[in-house]
Amino acid sequence: MIRNTRRIAHIGIAVSDLADSLRLYQDALGLELHGRETVEKDKVNVAFLPVGDTEIELLEASDPDSPVAKFIEKHGEGIHHIAIEVTDIESSLDTLRTQGFRLIDETPRIGAGGARVAFVHPKSTGGVLLELCEPAKDAYPDIEKL
Ligand code: ZN
Repeated sequence: MIRNTRRIAHIGIAVSDLADSLRLYQDALGLELHGRETVEKDKVNVAFLPVGDTEIELLEASDPDSPVAKFIEKHGEGIHHIAIEVTDIESSLDTLRTQGFRLIDETPRIGAGGARVAFVHPKSTGGVLLELCEPAKDAYPDIEKL
């Protein structure tokens, strides 16, 4: 059993047009844009908007063969994954592996905001793409000071 889960770090939402989605999340819902970046390796443009103790992560494909583009082709826009924050991602992955869950990432890699992340395959989680996420200590340092 993983004993170092902290919170839902974010909910990842696949969108076809980031600017258009920001009209809802930023302009209409009034959420603040916390960070925006392109994760080259995953071919996505991401935008983070905090809501209480968690965040909405908007994901837009930055390339036609991005996994997010394929997701939208197959399922349409919508919830893509749920990210659980852990304080020790290696031991969390070991635990899940030992318990027979299928990992997409056998070892953590660097995701948006410099966090260490790893995905668990939806085939072994009842259809939910789960992300484990251990935030970087210095992620968005300017925001920490607020
Ligand atoms: Zn995510």
